[in-house]
Amino acid sequence: MAKIISGKEVSAQVKERVRLENERLKSKGIETGLAVVIVGNDPASKVYVNNKKKACETVGFKSFEYALPEETTQQELLDLVEVLNKDTKVNGILVQLPLPKHIDETAIINAISPNKDVDAFHPINVGKIMVGDYAFLPCTPAGVMELIKSTGVDICGKNCVVIGRSNIVGKPMAMLLLHSNGTVTICHSKTKNLREICSQADILIASVGKPNFVTTDMVKDNAIVIDVGINRLENGKLCGDVNFNEVEPKASYITPVPGGVGPMTIAMLMQNTLTASKIQNGID
Ligand code: NAP
Repeated sequence: MAKIISGKEVSAQVKERVRLENERLKSKGIETGLAVVIVGNDPASKVYVNNKKKACETVGFKSFEYALPEETTQQELLDLVEVLNKDTKVNGILVQLPLPKHIDETAIINAISPNKDVDAFHPINVGKIMVGDYAFLPCTPAGVMELIKSTGVDICGKNCVVIGRSNIVGKPMAMLLLHSNGTVTICHSKTKNLREICSQADILIASVGKPNFVTTDMVKDNAIVIDVGINRLENGKLCGDVNFNEVEPKASYITPVPGGVGPMTIAMLMQNTLTASKIQNGID
């Protein structure tokens, strides 16, 4: 039987850490603010934005929400980003993705000031993550690292396999594991012998976006299994990339969906916003 890693508990600890540190900033007269921009009516995006607003309240940040209509032009969005870049009350800027198809996401990400890029998607921050000298954490992978840390297991020298190579999860995930001295393999849709590679992993991270993709034959005895996937089934229920019922008896630690990686992403966003505020106010 695996131990269940609770993202709810670990994320609450991270947010409490941020709240206490924010109290220290407030005692110096510094307020921290996060601007969240949403374009259009995507229901999932609205839920995420609402959760981010709640997290800001929990840690004591001001949140500024900009809900723009679907037909907002790219130039209008760029203009708003420029205003937020200059606004001293705004320490972090988050533009909720995906954006409507007529807007070039890369152009918007590149327009955000790297000092306020709390999602760590700007190429400057991506490059810093690559070289291992970074202030802003890639939120979801950093959340996974906190979950692994909570097990007390040292990543150093472990075989780590990441399934998925997206810019927001798979690639930065592999970098963080590498910076912790894991021996890292990245798998993707063209990988041959996926089952064999995964079944060698001491730490297996699934970020595929396919329900129940990871089955018991892909998992080594006593592996740590982290499920990043969030998939909505036809019955409306959320489900991860890992077949939890099958894999759980074989793993040493496993994350559930929901209640695993999901809450961590927002907690790490709060951590990044605090970092942004400290950098902009010249505080260590
Ligand atoms: P993505 O951009 O669609 O990437 C999926 C990756 O999986 C790709 O690299 C793809 O390979 C690989 N893949 C697809 N089919 C595969 C197969 N049969 N064998 C091996 N690899 C395969 O997705 P993402 O943005 O990284 O997100 C992944 C999952 O994490 C989604 O369910 C998403 O909802 C979830 N997510 C959760 C959080 C959170 O806060 N918990 C945050 C972000 C994302 P190719 O590159 O070759 O196509």
